[in-house]
Amino acid sequence: MRNLASIITDEDNKNICHTCGTKYAEPLPGVCLICADDRQYVPATGQQWTSYHILNKKSSIRFSNLLPNVFDLRIVPAFAIAQKAHLICSPGGNVLWDCLPFIDEASVAFIRSIGGIRAIAISHPHYYSLMAVWAEVFDCPIYLHEADQEWIMDKSPRIQLWNGASHKLWDNMSLIHTAGHFAGSTVLHAPAVGDKGSLFVGDSLYVAHSLKFISMMHSYPNAIPLPERDILYISEQVNKLNFDGMYGAFEWQNVHTGAKELFVQSVKRYLEIFK
Ligand SMILES: [Zn+2]
Ligand SMILES: [Zn+2]
Repeated sequence: MRNLASIITDEDNKNICHTCGTKYAEPLPGVCLICADDRQYVPATGQQWTSYHILNKKSSIRFSNLLPNVFDLRIVPAFAIAQKAHLICSPGGNVLWDCLPFIDEASVAFIRSIGGIRAIAISHPHYYSLMAVWAEVFDCPIYLHEADQEWIMDKSPRIQLWNGASHKLWDNMSLIHTAGHFAGSTVLHAPAVGDKGSLFVGDSLYVAHSLKFISMMHSYPNAIPLPERDILYISEQVNKLNFDGMYGAFEWQNVHTGAKELFVQSVKRYLEIFK
């Protein structure tokens, strides 16, 4: 097992985007390509970069026991997009769903104490963040949908691209392609989480603040909708899954029961707009 210090050899290099948390390999672009895309934004004050060293001076990762065998992880104080990642603990091995733009020794020690990480799977490029470092520390693969490979800014031999409509993991878990938000957007189906199965959705599906509606958008910060054909594909892909819980990328996005019905009603409402 390698320690973090031997992996992050460029800790003073300002190669992490301050707005989205993506870590870049050299050469650094003038502006973050993820933020310049119409799904994100470069702040009015201009592009800012930060380093691992700067983050490490003020940040830690908070673990919350969201459900039996599921932890959510977030950076405190909040940084960049401020998404949470989820560590789903399963008999065949733990999966890290989505990723964070920071990692520290305390978090590595905690995760190792509960069995480490067998694989990292990420919903879409906004959460690629520090994935190459995480995978190196835990000596594990990163599963990404190949339709999003142009957005990989820190290439790693750990990355395994998959294609098509779904990708089986272990213990009946699987990655399901939804597209929509990004061409390669995915969700994670975990049939053993909760009473009737759960979906971990990143923002491929976006749980609204009311917890009564699920949104599907090309861009959430820029409020750009998706065309009908994308909503129909998401609906086809998600409707065939059995689930009752849905867990998104942000703090409030925890639907413990009734998520399938919520999804069906939300799609129905979208499709009424296109009539
Ligand atoms: Zn960025
Ligand atoms: Zn996103």
